[in-house]
Amino acid sequence: MNYRKLGASGLVVSELALGNWITHGAQVDNETASACVHAAWDAGITTFDTADVYSETRAEAVLGQALKGIRRESIELCTKVYHPTGTGPNDRGLSRKHIMEACHASLNRLQTDYIDVYYAHRFDPEVSLEETFLAFSDLVRQGKVLYVGVSEWTAEQISKGAALARELCVPLVASQPQYSMLWRVIEAEVVQASEREGIGQVVWSPLAQGILTGKYSPGKPFPQGSRAATSAGAPFFEKLAGQWLRTEVLQAVSKLSTTAQEAGLTLPQLAIAWVLQNPQVSAAIIGASNPGQIQENVKAAGIRLAPDLLKQIDVILEGLIERDPSKTG
Ligand code: NDP
Repeated sequence: MNYRKLGASGLVVSELALGNWITHGAQVDNETASACVHAAWDAGITTFDTADVYSETRAEAVLGQALKGIRRESIELCTKVYHPTGTGPNDRGLSRKHIMEACHASLNRLQTDYIDVYYAHRFDPEVSLEETFLAFSDLVRQGKVLYVGVSEWTAEQISKGAALARELCVPLVASQPQYSMLWRVIEAEVVQASEREGIGQVVWSPLAQGILTGKYSPGKPFPQGSRAATSAGAPFFEKLAGQWLRTEVLQAVSKLSTTAQEAGLTLPQLAIAWVLQNPQVSAAIIGASNPGQIQENVKAAGIRLAPDLLKQIDVILEGLIERDPSKTG
């Protein structure tokens, strides 16, 4: 494993982080979840990503349990607040009330005293940034949160948040956007705005939820047990990755598999290595439904892709890449 600084902060994260969206507490049983966490740890992954909303809060509890026995100081534990975790009017968003209550609930489920990076899971247009950042500031002063991040915020939202964070001495150090060979919307604005503020990108779905593994083929049924085929995964897959289940995309992905093979890599390794070529990316968060996927994917750490290979990838994907920054969020 290789390690990078998270933005301009002093926090070190593993180039590959393990996330547990859809998997823990839903798609996979707890034993498999624990085996995945330990496979990640054995491979040198120290950064773990979850959110209060994942699997209706079960994902945090499963992760907390799976991490028992691993020295707390040796890992970076990251979670998020914003999406609804209950039916009450205050069980959502970035108000002071919900941030405080959600943080305490996450600490309980994760069985820890502090969160390394606490993310605002989305921008909340209904709450002032002042209220949100004052709540984050208090959690930082209390030692319950060490660093703060935002997820799927636009460049303008990041710049405004960063100005306030500076004023309140809140260490806003991470942005968590979707980023893959197919989804490059951060490149136009978010990366530049973040770089100016010392904020690193911790990117999600580098495999486009499995599309960039080559497991989905045109005209063929989804492989058994795959995210697209399971009741826990299908709705999210359909919503965010369904756009790529087109013949032209899947055929291009099949060409990418050959390109990867020629480079001595598997396609998942190539796709993860690709996001890590961007120097503004601090870590790629991978998901996994079994330990073998992690053991394969971690080999992407530290790989340098030659300029010719990067060009070849762009040629294969020409016309299929999403770059519109207005799609952020
Ligand atoms: P990926 O794009 O890495 O997709 C992971 C899935 O791809 C796995 O669960 C598995 O699904 C399949 N896969 C992985 N490796 C292989 C392999 N070698 N061979 C075959 N199939 C493979 O990431 P995710 O979409 O899971 O997202 C990663 C993390 O990012 C999340 O857990 C979460 O922490 C974070 N995230 C954050 C969001 C945000 O709004 N901030 C939104 C979404 C995710 P299967 O085997 O089931 O087909």
